[in-house]
Amino acid sequence: MSGDQQRKLQEIESRLRVIPDFPRPGIMFKDVTPLLADGPMFASCVELLAERVSAWKPELIVGIESRGFIFGAPVANRLGIGFVPARKPGKLPYKKVIERYQLEYGEDSIEMHEDSVHDRGVVIVDDLLATGGTAAAALRLCRALRGNVLGLAFVVELGFLGGRAKLDRPVESLLGGPP
Ligand code: AMP
Repeated sequence: MSGDQQRKLQEIESRLRVIPDFPRPGIMFKDVTPLLADGPMFASCVELLAERVSAWKPELIVGIESRGFIFGAPVANRLGIGFVPARKPGKLPYKKVIERYQLEYGEDSIEMHEDSVHDRGVVIVDDLLATGGTAAAALRLCRALRGNVLGLAFVVELGFLGGRAKLDRPVESLLGGPP
C-alpha cells in the first residue's frame, strides 16, 4: 500500500466516531456520519473501496440496507456498473426472495428482487463487518438468486469477532481486519 493510501486510511479512521453502549450495553458503535459529512474523506473512502473491488471485475454491486447503500451505490457509480439493494423486509415492490439470519438477540431478514443478480458477477458492500451474520445472509441470498459472488467489501471490519470466517469468498476491509 502506498504512503498516500495509508495516510488516507488514517484520515478516514479519524472521522469514525465511536459511541459506547449503543444501541445496547457492551456495543462500541462505529458511527460513520462524521465520515459521510466530510466530502473529501467520503470521496477517498469510495475511491479506495472501488480500487479494491475493481480487481474482482464485478458487474454489479449489492449494497446491504442501509449503510451499505451509502457506500455501495457510489462505488458502483465510480466503476460504471449497476447497483442492487438488499433490503429490509417489506420494502421491495416486485417478486422477491427472503433470507433470514440470527442476531445476538432474535432474528432479522433481508430481501432481494428475484431477477436482480441472475448470472451476474457481484460484490457485496456494507459499512461494517461484525459477527458476519448479515453479510453471510446476503451471500446466501445472492447465491440463491444465481448470482456469482466474487467478494465482499467493508469500510470497517471488527476482526476480533471473526466474521470473515462465515464468508467463503474473498473479503476486503479498508480498516480493521483479521487480528
Ligand atoms: P454483523 O451481522 O454482526 O456482522 O453486523 C453487521 C451489521 O450491523 C452491519 O450492517 C453494521 O452496519 C451493523 N453493525 C454491527 N456492529 C456494529 C458496530 N459496532 N458499529 C456500527 N455498526 C455495526
